[in-house]
Amino acid sequence: MASSSTSNSPCAACKFLRRKCLPGCIFAPYFPPEEPQKFANVHKIFGASNVSKLLNEIMPHQREDAVNSLAYEAEARMKDPVYGCVGAISVLQRQVMRLQKELDATNADLMRFTSNDMSNSSFSVFPGQYGARMGHGGGSFDHNSGFSLPYASPWNNNPTGGSSEEGGDGTM
Ligand SMILES: [Zn+2]
Repeated sequence: MASSSTSNSPCAACKFLRRKCLPGCIFAPYFPPEEPQKFANVHKIFGASNVSKLLNEIMPHQREDAVNSLAYEAEARMKDPVYGCVGAISVLQRQVMRLQKELDATNADLMRFTSNDMSNSSFSVFPGQYGARMGHGGGSFDHNSGFSLPYASPWNNNPTGGSSEEGGDGTM
């Protein structure tokens, strides 16, 4: 058995799988050795052979995005074995629905106030009415922790994706 060269370290996938990282390794561009946990998570949830097959089936320019989304999903699934990233999605969907109702109610108020203003222009009554209404309906979502996810999500610090390969890597 020949000893492997130490000049260039194997990618995180080949290191994890204890195999030689050959030139053209499908994993090497997306699983650098500095991020061992990224591959470990993806392998645990999806399996290395499934990931290899998936990467071979898609265009090379889409592979990095695919790997990053797999890493994101795998990390979410590790943290929440029942819901995975669906847990975060449903929290955000409920939040969107609540905010949409909030917005509709506020727009309706605004319309009513505007039409009142046009008809009798008694401006002094609006701030009190508006404030009371916001205190009743508007304040409710702010105070019952509508924004907090049920678990800490380090990958959520980067909502735009950031275009870096460490997007899915949990930096604890
Ligand atoms: Zn490799």
